[in-house]
Amino acid sequence: MRLDRIGVDESVAAVFPPARLVDRLADATDEAGVDVTAVDGSPDALADCDAVVTLEHRETYLDLSWVHSIQAGVDRFPRERLREGNVVLTNSTGIHGDAVGETVAGFVLALARRIHEYAAAQTDSEWTRPDWDEAWTVAGERACVVGIGGLGRGIVDRLTGLGLDVDGVRRTPVPEPGVDRVYTTDRLREVIGDARFVVLAVPLTDATRGSIGRDELAAMDDEAYLINVARGGVVDQSALVAALRDDEIAGAALDVFETEPLPADSPLWDLEDVIVSPHCAAYTRDYYRHVSEIVTESVRRIADGDEPVNRVV
Ligand code: NDP
Repeated sequence: MRLDRIGVDESVAAVFPPARLVDRLADATDEAGVDVTAVDGSPDALADCDAVVTLEHRETYLDLSWVHSIQAGVDRFPRERLREGNVVLTNSTGIHGDAVGETVAGFVLALARRIHEYAAAQTDSEWTRPDWDEAWTVAGERACVVGIGGLGRGIVDRLTGLGLDVDGVRRTPVPEPGVDRVYTTDRLREVIGDARFVVLAVPLTDATRGSIGRDELAAMDDEAYLINVARGGVVDQSALVAALRDDEIAGAALDVFETEPLPADSPLWDLEDVIVSPHCAAYTRDYYRHVSEIVTESVRRIADGDEPVNRVV
């Protein structure tokens, strides 16, 4: 692949200012003779580009050699069509473990220590203490982390650090440090029944779509919480609303939804013990630096005739 110019698409602005990445990447790839520029996805802007770093997919990318997604999930990219068009697709798996791990730890602590309730009461200047049996501590509780890749690893580290015991679910039955028992997907329903927190960290694929539905929610303990930092489509959202309303589970912390932004009339906004965050579990002011490191390493590898980092297509 020949790389003369990389575009940074304006859609990355949802996560960081595009100019930050343009400047950083330009410095890092200058020696390799690669030019970096901001683009808006129009054919004119992309005309001299061989590659693009982006959040969104655009049809114009089918004429490029390489598309890099600043996210780990590539469910929004038409992988088959990119493959047919000989367009290389890479993702940013590996950079989110720390930020998402800390967000999940925050959810776990907020739900146990009732911090979400105090934050809500504060907006009404209300001094309301919890009932004597509402607050609890998490050490010694069990979590089940579904998906123990880059994201899952960061989550496992934080939860074990808080004293939780952790089980894991993945496709391959390979042990994972810090995870007591690793199960494969066929035993999902059985293992989530033991957990106080079920944390979803899998990609959205044909196999995972809707994999947490009515039966899985029924298999969870009625004092358990669902934490979804994967993709909204992994959970059957109407089954989740029903399970929350019927007290089949104790609550949820949700960063991702079937429809984003979460519509104003969604019942999830108002359900008790549900924390809603706007798909920002991975946000950190260092995000553009981490993306720059991955892309720079890929540029180096491509110059050496090797595969770029995190190739998906
Ligand atoms: P990785 O590829 O590093 O890890 C994916 C993990 O999921 C692996 O453990 C894999 O199993 C497991 N897995 C895949 N398919 C299945 C399945 N059918 N059943 C059970 N386990 C499965 O990806 P990341 O950890 O980097 O990211 C995971 C997803 O999280 C992304 O695709 C994205 O959708 C989402 N994400 C969300 C963010 C947010 O802001 N909320 C931020 C970043 C990512 P195995 O180990 O056996 O391969």
